[in-house]
Amino acid sequence: MTQPAAATPAEPTGTITVRVPAKVNVQLSVGGLRPDGFHSLANVFLAVGLYDSVSATRAEEPRLTVSGPDAALVPQDRTNLAARAAELLAERHGLAPEVHLHIAKDIPVAGGMAGGSADAAGALLACDRLWGLNTPREELLGLCAELGSDVPFSFAGGAALGEGRGEVLTPLEVGGTFHWVFAAADGGLSTPDVYRECDRLRADDDVPEPVASEALLAALRAGDAQALAGALRNDLQPAALSLRPSLAETLNTGLAAGALAALVSGSGPTCAFLVADADSAARTAHNLTASGTCRAARATTSPAPGATVV
Ligand code: ATP
Repeated sequence: MTQPAAATPAEPTGTITVRVPAKVNVQLSVGGLRPDGFHSLANVFLAVGLYDSVSATRAEEPRLTVSGPDAALVPQDRTNLAARAAELLAERHGLAPEVHLHIAKDIPVAGGMAGGSADAAGALLACDRLWGLNTPREELLGLCAELGSDVPFSFAGGAALGEGRGEVLTPLEVGGTFHWVFAAADGGLSTPDVYRECDRLRADDDVPEPVASEALLAALRAGDAQALAGALRNDLQPAALSLRPSLAETLNTGLAAGALAALVSGSGPTCAFLVADADSAARTAHNLTASGTCRAARATTSPAPGATVV
């Protein structure tokens, strides 16, 4: 007798490709070092239109490949966050992680834009669909949080307030399109090193508990770029500048080109410039590239959607 189709897991074929966005932290307020080694954060994430694509194809054994200009900087073994995501999902479902993951990398590596977290979110969704699991969204978000503090946001996209270590997410309303330029630097910065430098620089300070800025949340809701420019904040910026003093020149170059505001993206060294419109974005990107103060400058917009099967 023929088994009904629903009795066996679907046997999907081919390749599933998922597109995942980079992020910028429009507010990154960092509390003091906690006894568990983490920092409390008030972290306002905004997904931006720079994307990695993660493709999952059935394979005889786990395999990972990476393409793109920064491919050589990305680990291609089991330490890659995308591979770890596939392993975690497989383990929860008692499967073997027999999948070929390919990452087409466009997000700067170790650039403070959560590229590794994006790939983990992308791999999780791609494998879930490839293996016909259709895990509920809430469960996938739970797996994201196990993989890293920034991974749930990479999965969700849009804009969100992250509290705790950054992984407790509240989605935020965004009332318009913001224009940005991102200047990638040569070489990355290690996120743990930047936090350590932040602690060192503030060793004698009383560090308040971080809270989300009402002015910043209102600027996002209104889609008001001028107001957002006045409210941007990154507590890791002094540490990133201390470790990479040349970033000050990059920030000043973008401001001189007419950007409304400039800040280091997350732990850096990518610099983010909020600009008034698409024309200003093109001019700022051109001036930054011509100045030689960065490796490459790209114009884009926010908010961007989260992990999406394409
Ligand atoms: P964040 O903003 O979340 O602190 P980041 O954007 O500064 O992160 P990533 O691009 O995520 O940094 O890379 C940080 C390190 O993680 C890299 O130096 C690399 O060794 C490792 N890594 C593991 N998996 C990946 C991946 N899929 N893509 C990029 N880096 C990865």
